Amino acid sequence: MARRRQIYEGKAKVLFEGPEPGTLVTYFKDDATAFNNKKRGTITGKGVINNRISEYLMTRLGEIGVATHFVRRLNMREQLVREVEIIPLEVVVRNVAAGSLAQRFGMAEGTPLPRSIVEYYYKSDELGDPMVGEEHVTAFGWATPQEIDEILSLALRINDFLSGLFLGIGIRLVDFKLEFGRLWENEQMRIVLADEISPDSCRLWDVASNEKLDKDRFRRDLGKVAEAYQEVARRLGILPEGGAVDAKGSTSIQ
Ligand code: 5GP
Repeated sequence: MARRRQIYEGKAKVLFEGPEPGTLVTYFKDDATAFNNKKRGTITGKGVINNRISEYLMTRLGEIGVATHFVRRLNMREQLVREVEIIPLEVVVRNVAAGSLAQRFGMAEGTPLPRSIVEYYYKSDELGDPMVGEEHVTAFGWATPQEIDEILSLALRINDFLSGLFLGIGIRLVDFKLEFGRLWENEQMRIVLADEISPDSCRLWDVASNEKLDKDRFRRDLGKVAEAYQEVARRLGILPEGGAVDAKGSTSIQ
């Protein structure tokens, strides 16, 4: 395969120029970072599993009419996506108190929230992704009032769908982070779901045991990190029973 031109390297992914104009290739790495890059490590096989999980979830969301940037998976670690103009916000949806919300309000982790809460964080490594309100989003021009309305309703729709999907496999969707982008087609712009949805960007707890099946295992040194990601893939039916990931990150999945 011809060497692709690298466009951007992030913490967990590398973006390459795609085969056609308006497309990009996303390469999923095994690198893991937390606490704004202060903690770094490798989760063997994570890239392979996140590529697969994100493909699965974006495809299911596409089937219910949520537009996404996802086109198709190319191989174990790469997927083809539409090039979008990323809106510089991390949109966090929460169903249960955990992480920074539990800390901020002194709540016990695991307390159910009376209703789902959507928060916005401005994407900036230098500033440590500060939380912002709609007022900041529109005043600073990161998104228009119409765009932020659409992002909010998309985030809630995605939350309803994914909460049900995960509950069906015995997993509670505690919270997760989404990113959105602008996609132009024939002079028309629409907001589409971008980035990835994976155990890197979600809190996923086993319904019965409350065992954490997500990146908190890495953040909090809980061990069995790769195993937790594999368990999510296995329950989604996209990793064969007992399918293990070897040191190169290859698995028995196709
Ligand atoms: P918290 O604000 O509690 O740290 O995170 C809330 C949710 O958003 C968690 O599921 C967490 O994984 C996700 N999240 C927040 N910031 C980031 C980020 O910068 N990268 C990723 N991958 N996920 C994030």
